[in-house]
Amino acid sequence: MDMTGRRALVVGASSGIGAAITEAFAGAGARVVAAGRRSDRLDEVTARAAGPARAVTPMLLDVADEASARSGVAAAAEILGGLDVVVNNAGVMLSATVQDSDPAEWERMVRTNLLGTLHVSHAALPHLVASRGTLVQTSSTSGRVSSAGSGVYAATKHGVNAFSEALRQEVAPQGVRVVMVEPGMVDTELSEHLSDPAMRALAARMAGEIRVLDPYDVAETVLFAVTRPPHVSLNEILVRPTEQVR
Ligand code: NDP
Repeated sequence: MDMTGRRALVVGASSGIGAAITEAFAGAGARVVAAGRRSDRLDEVTARAAGPARAVTPMLLDVADEASARSGVAAAAEILGGLDVVVNNAGVMLSATVQDSDPAEWERMVRTNLLGTLHVSHAALPHLVASRGTLVQTSSTSGRVSSAGSGVYAATKHGVNAFSEALRQEVAPQGVRVVMVEPGMVDTELSEHLSDPAMRALAARMAGEIRVLDPYDVAETVLFAVTRPPHVSLNEILVRPTEQVR
C-alpha cells in the first residue's frame, strides 16, 4: 500500500481516526497536510508520523467557517503543489433525544459534519479533477441507520452519503473517485464532547460491552481504498466491530 509521491489533505487530523489516517498515509510515503483547530494536537500528530522528512505539515482550519475551510484547501494545495487525496474527516457527535436537544448543538453538527464536508469537497474538486484524485468522506453507520438519541447526527451523516453519491456520479467520468467510509464504534474522543450525561454514560456502556475498533483499523481501510489502481473505486465501505449488531 504505497503512497510515495502522493499529496494528501486530511481534515480533522488532530485526534482519533484522522490522526491515524495521517500517520498511515505518511508511513506509506505520502506528503500530508494535517488540518484541524487544535494546534498542540496537530503538532503531536506531526511529530508521531513516520515517512519522508517533513512528510506532515500541520494546518489550522475550522470547517464550520466557510472561509476558513476554503482558504485551508487552497493553502494545502499550494504547500503540496496539488492534491491527490482529500479526506473529509472532521466531525462532532452531540447526540441527545430530539426532545432533550439543544438546537445550538444541531447547528454545530450541521455546520461541521455536513456543511464543512460540502465546502471542503467543493474547494478541493478542481485540484482532484486535475490529478484524477480521490475524495474520502468519513460518514458512519449512522449514515445508513438512524437510531433513537442520534437523529441529528444521523441526519448529517445521511446527508454526507447523499451528497457523496451524487458527487460520485458527477465526477466519475473525470476519473475522480469518491469513497464513503462508514465506521461503527471506534475508540476515540468523539463521545467525550457529549453534553448530555445520560448519552455520555450510554456511549461508555455500549463501548465497554464489545471490542470496538481502533482508529488504526479504520485508517488501514482508508489506506487500502486510496491505494487501489486508478480504475478501481471502493465507493462505500461499512466497517463495524465484529460484535456490533446495529
Ligand atoms: P475525534 O473527536 O477524535 O476527532 C474529530 C476530529 O474532527 C478532530 O481532529 C477534530 O479536530 C476535528 N474537528 C471537529 N470539529 C472541527 C472543525 N470545526 N474544524 C476542523 N476540524 C474539526 O473523533 P473521531 O476520530 O471518532 O471522529 C472522526 C470522524 O469519524 C467524525 O466525522 C465522526 O463523525 C466519524 N465517526 C466516528 C465514529 C466513532 O465511533 N468514533 C464512528 C463513525 C464515524 P479539532 O478539534 O482539532 O478541530
